[in-house]
Amino acid sequence: MKAVAVFPGKPNSMHLEQVDKPTLESIPNGRGVLVKVLRVGVDGTDKEINAAEYGAAPDGDHFLITGHEGFGQVEAVGSEVSELKPGDFVVATVRRPGTSIYDRIGTSDMTTDDVYFERGINLRHGFLTEYYVDDADFIVRVPRGLRQVGVLLEPMTVVEKGITQAFEIQRRLRVWRPKRAAVTGAGTIGLLAALVLRLRGLDVTVFGQRPAPYRNSKLLQQIDARYVSTKEISVIDGAAQYGPFDLILEATGFSPLAFDCMQALGKNGVLVLSSVTGGDRRVDVPSDKVNLEFVLGNKVVVGTVNANREYFERGVQDMALAQAEYDGWLEQLLTHPIKGLENYAQMLETLTTATDAIKVYCEVAPMPAPTTPSHEERTLHDVSTAH
Ligand code: BGC
Ligand code: ZN
Repeated sequence: MKAVAVFPGKPNSMHLEQVDKPTLESIPNGRGVLVKVLRVGVDGTDKEINAAEYGAAPDGDHFLITGHEGFGQVEAVGSEVSELKPGDFVVATVRRPGTSIYDRIGTSDMTTDDVYFERGINLRHGFLTEYYVDDADFIVRVPRGLRQVGVLLEPMTVVEKGITQAFEIQRRLRVWRPKRAAVTGAGTIGLLAALVLRLRGLDVTVFGQRPAPYRNSKLLQQIDARYVSTKEISVIDGAAQYGPFDLILEATGFSPLAFDCMQALGKNGVLVLSSVTGGDRRVDVPSDKVNLEFVLGNKVVVGTVNANREYFERGVQDMALAQAEYDGWLEQLLTHPIKGLENYAQMLETLTTATDAIKVYCEVAPMPAPTTPSHEERTLHDVSTAH
């Protein structure tokens, strides 16, 4: 079968590999799940991997199959898998356990190990291929009604983790009634963060670079979130106008903004940093002021990366809630489909040049009709056979 792979360490090495179709037997204890890949999203991490800035091949291989934002359909399950069945739509988590105590309790997203095992990123093959197998413990079922947006689940989990962590931390306050939130960055993560915060009932201001109106600012309007261009109002000035912000989620990929966010955070507030910034940028910060305000305001800053199974399950629930509250909104994030694994070059090109793109993703195989009839189809059938 075909797979999209890179030679780690060699820039611009994305290519097609021929690999064997994986088997259920490669997973121990009858817990294997064989998944047919339907769609795979790509993002900045894939760009970094193709630029050889990050990523390693699994032991024994000289290539790494890329793609960590998978969506697929179960084809077969091992004898000890009762929670999934053929035909189910599923997404696999990304990180696999290392050795720390956090890994041992199912929270490998919190690992203290120096080495990460991440499918499609580091030391484990990813999902940009026709089939994969994994242990059922790492596979999350997605209801068929979410199948058109299921490829957004992995990015959604990054947001779910960040926001859940913020709420967990704020239990320190005994009572916390967040009213206003800010999100910096209006890309996929920023938009999904705005969505989740709106679903929690917060007033949301999203800061992005581009002047409004454009696609993303209009999408935010649809969920009653405010969009502010930092070309017009800085994050710090925005806080004076639309804050105080009880929660800020930073998702721009531009590290200097983290320090602006510290200054935009309200008393007792929590700032969540989620940008993976590989550079070596340095900035001047008003350190006395920032420090003083953090101390006098009892403020918190927390970093967040990756997501464990819990956040995939929360992601599914919020996607369902989003479909109920803002029907059709999530689908609008799927702006740039690329047909077929063989068009990986076009996929990369779109990822780097399409300035209006939200989610670029590969349609690996056509979306099948659900295996069991929907409620409407059943009702129609009852009506037609009643006569
Ligand atoms: C993925 C995360 C991963 C991180 C760092 C992101 O693109 O969404 O799951 O942990 O990259 O490797
Ligand atoms: Zn991603």
